[in-house]
Amino acid sequence: MDHRLPSPDSDMVVSCLGNEKTVLEPRPRPMVDSGEMLLRLRVVGFCGTDLFKLTTDSASPGTVLGHEIVGEVIDLGDGVDKFDLGDRVCVPHHVPCGECLYCRRGNETMCETFRENLMEPGGFADSILIKSRATALAAHRIPDDISDAAAVFVEPAACVLRGVERSGIDRDGTAVIQGGGSMGLLHLLVLKAALPGVSVAVIDPLEPRRALAESLGASATAAPGDAALDAVQGLTAGAGADAVFDTVGGSRLLEAGLQLSRQGGTIVLFAHAPDGDRAGFDLNDLFKFERRVLGTYSGALHEQAAVFELIKSGALDPSPLVTHTMPLNDFQRGYSLAKNQEALKILFTPTVSTETT
Ligand SMILES: [Zn+2]
Ligand SMILES: [Zn+2]
Repeated sequence: MDHRLPSPDSDMVVSCLGNEKTVLEPRPRPMVDSGEMLLRLRVVGFCGTDLFKLTTDSASPGTVLGHEIVGEVIDLGDGVDKFDLGDRVCVPHHVPCGECLYCRRGNETMCETFRENLMEPGGFADSILIKSRATALAAHRIPDDISDAAAVFVEPAACVLRGVERSGIDRDGTAVIQGGGSMGLLHLLVLKAALPGVSVAVIDPLEPRRALAESLGASATAAPGDAALDAVQGLTAGAGADAVFDTVGGSRLLEAGLQLSRQGGTIVLFAHAPDGDRAGFDLNDLFKFERRVLGTYSGALHEQAAVFELIKSGALDPSPLVTHTMPLNDFQRGYSLAKNQEALKILFTPTVSTETT
């Protein structure tokens, strides 16, 4: 049991220690400067990137991870007139500059400025400072009828929408999603919301995930391998899918994705590959059969705004993907659940006092 408690001007955060360990510790509450705002955490999503950074030990000790947040405004710096105290807001942690070569060419997520983390100390914290660029350009006030559990998906769903748009899939096209975890199923929901006529097949070895995919609107589901090939051929009169979204990662999935796509189809890579993994596939899949392999990374302002509108309109409600909600005190438990694939989306809420009198 951790007995370190916050003082009146400090808050608890989940701080990385290395070796997959974290500790709940007090940190001074950040002070707002002009253009900034301070949020009291409402919920923060546990993301595949957080999982990746913890399992690969790539977050330096003292780092506070977490970036999919919904918070309530508790302090405002000078000049912020877009928001009022008490507003519920969602906001991403990265905002591109809008002016550099990458931004001008539509590769905003490669922008040098985009790398800067605009949340202090990070999302796994009871209060979070939002820097001025994110406050001015990227934060959205959440309407009363939209739940925290839906709004918290704006950032990850924006990443998904970027891949969906770049795939070029038509509104009546057929998509395959490799992986029925929270990102795979989020692809399903974003595809159905953005392109209501689309047919989607979800490929996952776990039966409960396939069942959930069907209840969320998948036209077909199958285990990887021959069953997946049969299902996709059945759905496309033998042609193969217009677009395949790989939410698992790695060269084996790429080869399977090429097999599941039609001639002229697109494979979108949407996951970290194992370190050093190299792909080998028939190059004529690209030249002779006009297949395309592309990757998309993160999401920019355009996708965030578009996803926010989809959620606001009710077309997109990812909240059924939330399987666990727990206070930040239980962070290690949430981490194990995610690591062992025993959860889909985990949301953390502010710490509860563990003080016993
Ligand atoms: Zn994320
Ligand atoms: Zn830029």
